[in-house]
Amino acid sequence: MKILELKDVNKDYDIESKEKFTALSNISVSFDKGELVSIVGESGSGKSTLMNLIGGLDSSYTGTINISGHNLKDFKDKELDDYRKKKIGFVFQSFNLIPHLSVLDNVTIGLTLSNEKESIKNHKAIELLTKLGLKNHLKKKPTQLSGGQKQRVAIARALINDPDIILADEPTGALDSGTSQQILEILKEIADNGKLVIMVTHSEKVASVSSRIVEISDGKIISDTKNNKYEKHMTKILLKNKSSVYGNKFIPSKETYTFAEVKNIQTKSKKSKGHLSFLSAVKLSIHNMWASKIKNLLMAIGVSISLISMILMLSFGSGLTGYISDQAAEYSNPTIVTLSKSGRDRNGNKIHNSGEIDSQTILSGAFTEQEIQEVSNDINNHIKDKTDFQIIYDQENENKNLSYGFSVPAFTMGSISYIPAEPDENGEIKEISTKLLYLYTTPPYYTENKLLTDNGHISKENEIMLSPAAAEFFEIEDLEECVGKEVFLNITFDTYHLRMPVKVSAIIDVSVFSNSMIMYIDYDFLDASIKAAQEDKGEEASGLVPTLLFIETGNEKIKTMIEDYVKENRKDLSGSVEEQLVEMFSEMLNTFSIALTVIAGISLIVAMIMILVVLYMSVSERTKEIGVLKSIGARKKDIKLIFSTESFLVGILSGIAGIIFTLIIGGILTLIFNSILGFAPIRMMWYYFFEALALSIVISVLAGLYPSSKAAKLDPVESLRRE
Ligand code: ADP
Ligand code: MG
Repeated sequence: MKILELKDVNKDYDIESKEKFTALSNISVSFDKGELVSIVGESGSGKSTLMNLIGGLDSSYTGTINISGHNLKDFKDKELDDYRKKKIGFVFQSFNLIPHLSVLDNVTIGLTLSNEKESIKNHKAIELLTKLGLKNHLKKKPTQLSGGQKQRVAIARALINDPDIILADEPTGALDSGTSQQILEILKEIADNGKLVIMVTHSEKVASVSSRIVEISDGKIISDTKNNKYEKHMTKILLKNKSSVYGNKFIPSKETYTFAEVKNIQTKSKKSKGHLSFLSAVKLSIHNMWASKIKNLLMAIGVSISLISMILMLSFGSGLTGYISDQAAEYSNPTIVTLSKSGRDRNGNKIHNSGEIDSQTILSGAFTEQEIQEVSNDINNHIKDKTDFQIIYDQENENKNLSYGFSVPAFTMGSISYIPAEPDENGEIKEISTKLLYLYTTPPYYTENKLLTDNGHISKENEIMLSPAAAEFFEIEDLEECVGKEVFLNITFDTYHLRMPVKVSAIIDVSVFSNSMIMYIDYDFLDASIKAAQEDKGEEASGLVPTLLFIETGNEKIKTMIEDYVKENRKDLSGSVEEQLVEMFSEMLNTFSIALTVIAGISLIVAMIMILVVLYMSVSERTKEIGVLKSIGARKKDIKLIFSTESFLVGILSGIAGIIFTLIIGGILTLIFNSILGFAPIRMMWYYFFEALALSIVISVLAGLYPSSKAAKLDPVESLRRE
């Protein structure tokens, strides 16, 4: 049985608009082991087409191609890949070595695709390369070799899997005549060792040394002649006499192998059925990425910029909220529980829009006596088994431990005014007034520690305390000067207008809210003022409705116990003014963060598109390489793996670059903030970095999906035709 038989093979190429071009018609020919066949014919006669059909690169033909009695048409994709990998060795005119791999790696690639062991791979490749006189060039890159050397590397690559058939498409086309002669000798010896070598050539000289010449014209075989002058064992004789250029120049006599010997080493592991491993794909990708390191580095920096902005934004968000809540914690009393209405029902659903300030809002934020009882009893029930402490809410009881407070955002409703003692240059005395932002009654836990001035005291009847910002409108040099000033207070509640003279008793530390216009007033004093206003109008003197409840527990554990219960079970309640402000601030920050997240998201999409474009271009650049890999048996999956591994590595690289840059930039920003503000609102959590790395990998891999599937789908014949 002949090793290769073609029967009535026809090949049409589809040209545009349904036209067909017949490249091969009725080709029937067969070949034996040990033959060195020259295919000759004019350019465009169909020689390469024939080679591609035999090599299993092109399956769209009619007729039969039998390999050792098996019809190529019956091969499944997997078997076809295996056929290219194990049975066929391709040698091309333009060598088609992979430029970023070393000579050794170019040869072992065929075994890498079978997941062969490193030691076996290298052993075989070195044997072959030594045989071909390239022992001293193993580490070189293809560009560092001469044409003849490159072609010998390509031959070693074709032989590494010990194929039965070598297909050489114009192997000497790009070489000078001396070098051509060497390559020819090698191909001859390969044939002498029992392989079928089919070689396309233009050169009559080259053809004349082969055992058989098949001439093709316009897709038809026009002659098929045995070459009687062909001496089967010529090469061996030449080798023994050391008169061959190839023998003398490249092979030290001690290390002369015959291909038969090399073949013995190879057959040992011919059983290997493995596929390209992830590790090998990583190695290949690293080689390729290293070859275009500037491009990859720039891309990684581009991606990392969006990661940096994302991490810094998150760090800012948590830094600011963290700072504010720390401050709030510092200023709240450790044993007093503060309760207010949250504007939600017990299940946490919003019941009114707390952004609108009207009397309705104030009233819905106020506790009725019934509600105070209900809340107190509920908490008492919950804690009674755990502690002796019980809330005593009855305001008439001497031992009461629950007191009232009032707070309201007062803009448009409250103002303070003062009359300067000196007339201005026109002799007029003008009233100067400012709007208040917040009005609070002084919490029971405020102590002199919170005062910013030495000369002040916590406000009593007829007195108020001001935040530094509210004090500023007095146009004073220092805060002390403000203490003791008499001012007019204007507050409008519902239908009552309170206008009364009060004294500023102190300027109070409102920590992070120092830029807010805040006024503190004694609860009982405000309550009495409202009652007076109600009586003036002839109404019932019901007084102030509390919006805050203070429970003095006298014990930190009990405070925590009550607060935990409220947090879990009473969504209708929330905490102290500070806590509410922190919440409000966090909400504002959240809105801000969402905006920033959207921007960061857009920059991530841009980064993703950038990766996609770069990888896509890389696929186009490497079209030929992909064709070569397919010709030596790479499956679609292998190609996909190589490219997706690369996008995965880009993701890791970008992620790491992003983390390093963020640490540097974050460090610098922290220094700057510390020197300007005295604190740095940047809190980097370790998990931000993991998130950023994961995100970077995910977007890179996603961006790589399309380019790598495009690479996998490339038609090997077209890829190889690409110049
Ligand atoms: P040779 O290798 O003998 O120079 P080829 O086998 O490359 O010739 O091409 C044979 C004929 O088929 C040429 O006329 C060429 O133009 C045509 N051909 C090759 N590839 C294609 C293709 N993909 N589409 C259309 N025609 C093609
Ligand atoms: Mg050709």
